[in-house]
Amino acid sequence: MPNPLLQPYDLPPFSSIQAAHIKPAIEQVLADSRAQLAALLSKPPAQWSWASLIEPLDEMGEQLSRAWSPVSHLNAVMNTPELRDGYNSCLPLLSQFSTELGQSQALYAAYRQLADSDQFAELDKAQQTIIEHALRDFRLSGIALPAEQQQRYGELQMRLSELQSKFSNQLMDATQAWTKHITHASQLDGLPESALAQARQAAAAHELDGWLITLEFPSYYAVMTYAHDRALREELYTAYCTRASDQGPNAGEHDNGPLIAEILQLRQELAELLGYANYAELSLATKMADNTDQVLGFLRDLSQRSRPFAEGDLAALRSFAAERGCPDLQSWDNGYYAEQLRQHRYAVSQEELRPWFPVNKVLDGMFSIAARLYGIEVREVDEFDRWHPDARLFEVTEDGEVIGRFFLDLYARSNKRGGAWMDGCRDRRRLPDGQLQRPIAYLVCNFTPAVGDQPALLTHDEVTTLFHEFGHGLHHLLTRVDYPAASGINGVAWDAVELPSQFMENWCWEPEGLALISGHHETGAPLPSELLDKMLAARNFQSGLGMLRQIEFSLFDFELHAQSGTQCSAREVLSTVRTEIAVQQPPAFNRFENGFAHIFAGGYAAGYYSYKWAEVLSADAFSRFEDEGIFNAQTGRDFREQILARGGSREPMELFVAFRGREPSVNALLRHSGLTAEEAA
Ligand SMILES: [Zn+2]
Repeated sequence: MPNPLLQPYDLPPFSSIQAAHIKPAIEQVLADSRAQLAALLSKPPAQWSWASLIEPLDEMGEQLSRAWSPVSHLNAVMNTPELRDGYNSCLPLLSQFSTELGQSQALYAAYRQLADSDQFAELDKAQQTIIEHALRDFRLSGIALPAEQQQRYGELQMRLSELQSKFSNQLMDATQAWTKHITHASQLDGLPESALAQARQAAAAHELDGWLITLEFPSYYAVMTYAHDRALREELYTAYCTRASDQGPNAGEHDNGPLIAEILQLRQELAELLGYANYAELSLATKMADNTDQVLGFLRDLSQRSRPFAEGDLAALRSFAAERGCPDLQSWDNGYYAEQLRQHRYAVSQEELRPWFPVNKVLDGMFSIAARLYGIEVREVDEFDRWHPDARLFEVTEDGEVIGRFFLDLYARSNKRGGAWMDGCRDRRRLPDGQLQRPIAYLVCNFTPAVGDQPALLTHDEVTTLFHEFGHGLHHLLTRVDYPAASGINGVAWDAVELPSQFMENWCWEPEGLALISGHHETGAPLPSELLDKMLAARNFQSGLGMLRQIEFSLFDFELHAQSGTQCSAREVLSTVRTEIAVQQPPAFNRFENGFAHIFAGGYAAGYYSYKWAEVLSADAFSRFEDEGIFNAQTGRDFREQILARGGSREPMELFVAFRGREPSVNALLRHSGLTAEEAA
C-alpha cells in the first residue's frame, strides 16, 4: 500500500491517512529534501538566480507541507493517542531540519550572492522583500557572528528555552497546587448552573462530595464574576494573583521570580550579541512598528485619551457597589459588581440572541457581505474526502473561475483542540511550468453544536469569531502573490497579521450587516430592534477600564524589555507602570508578573502591544468604509487590492498607507470603543 501522504493529491486524502503513515512519510520527505539541498549547494553556479535558488527551495517546502499539513490538521481536529504519538515523534525531526536550514553557511552565502547580484534590481518588489526578509532571519539566527559568539548565541537560546518552559510548568504546577473544597451550596450562591456543574465535576474527579473551586481560568472567572460571597472572592483572588510567587497561600513553592530575572538578563545579552541596544529593539526588527519610541508613544497616547473614561467607569462601579452595601470596592469586587451593573443596565445575554443566528443564515449573510465587498462568490462543495461528518468545503469563485477553497469545521467535540483558528492547507504559488497553484485554507471553530432537530444556533460572540477567522481566511485566499514565502498570511509582521481578521468583525456590529446575517430560525423574523439596541449599547460597557488594563500589560512588557544598562527588577517596572497607568491599584501582594506567560513563556516578549496596534489598524481601515459606505464596492476592492492581495510582499505600513491614504490614527478605535467626547455625550 503506498503511503497516502507521499502521493500527489488535489485535496488531502483525510480518510485514508493512518497514524502509521506519519513518521515514515516525514522521514522520507526530510531525507529527500536533504539530498536535494546538498545537490543544489554542492555545485554553486557562477551566479545564483531566483529560478536556480528560490524555486527549488519552494518546491522542497511544498513537498514537506503536503505531507505535514494534513497531519497537523488531523492532530488538532481528530486527535487520537496514535495520531498524537505520530505527530509528536516528528516534531524534533522538523525542528532539527529547520535549524539546519537556518544555520547553513552555504545557503546564507547563496542568498547573499543573489541579493548582491545585478539580477536583484530586476526582481519584482515581492521577490526582493522575500530575499531581504530571509537575510534578516539568517542574521537573527546568529549566522553572521564570529564562531565564539555563535556558540554563545546557541547557549543563550538553549538556556532561554529551558527557562521559558520551566516558567510555564511552574505556573501550571502552582495553578494545580491550590483548590478549595465547598460543602455548602449557599457558599456558591450566584454562580450559573454550568459553573456549578463544572465545580461538582471537579470535586468528583478528586473523589469529593460537593464542589471544588480551582485556579483554572473558567472556575476562577465564574467565582469572581458571579459569587455573592465576598470572602470567597477575596480568598480566590489572593490565591490566583500570587501563583508561582513569594506571596499568598503557597508562597515560595513554585516561585517564578528568579526565572524572570534570569530570562530578562539573557534576553538583554542576546539582543546585544546581535547588535541591538535591548530586547525590545530586537523584537521590533521583524515587526511593523519602527522603533521603541514609536511603540511607547503609541501606548502613552492611548492611555492619556482613555484615562478619563476609565475614571468614569470606575466611579460608576464604585457608586453602584456602594448602593449595594459595598462602600470600599476592592480588586476582588470589580468583576462581580461589573457583571451586576451590566445586567442592571442592559439585561441582554448571549443565550437570548441565539435564535436569531441560525448557522446557515449567518454563513449566507457573511458570504454575501464578502460578495459585495470583494466581488467574489462562495459556494459549497458537497463531495469531498471528509475527516468528520461536520467538515464542509467551499469554493471561492471570481468571474466563474475558482480562485481558492476553504474547509470549515464549526462545532466543538471531544478530541478537537479548543479555540478558533485559520490555518493554511496550501499556499498560492506559481509552479515552475507556469501553472498557478490556488490556495486552500482551514477555518476551525468550537461552537455549540445543533440540538435535536434545530439547526445550530450561534451566540453573537460566536458569530464575531466566525467573521474573525473568515477575515484571516480571505487574507490567505485572496492573495495575488505568486511566491509562497509572501503569499496569503505568510511573511506578514506579527503586529499586522490581525488586521484583516479584526477588520471583518466590524460587519457584525453594523445594523446593515446584522440584517444580512440574522433571522429567527423558525419564523425568519429580523432581530428585534430592542434586542439590537441593547446589544450595541452593551458593546462598550466599561471599555475605558478594559483599555487601560491592556495598556498596562503592554507598557509593562515593553518597558521591561526596552531598558538597557541599569536593570530594574520586573517588580519595580510594574509598579512604576501601574502608578502611571492604572486608576485602581491592586493590593501589594499581587504578583501578576509571575503568571504573565505570554511574555515569559510564549512569543509575546516586547510584542504584547501588538493586540492594540492591530486593533488601531483594523478600526482605522474600517473608518474609511464608514466615510464611504460600509458596502461601498470601490472601497472594498481597494481593501482587497492594497491589503488582502499583497500579503507579506511589502512592509505593512506601506500597504496601510496605500489603502488609507495616510498613516494610522487611533481616533477610530477610540470612537468604536466609546472613548471619545462625542460618544460620551
Ligand atoms: Zn486572529
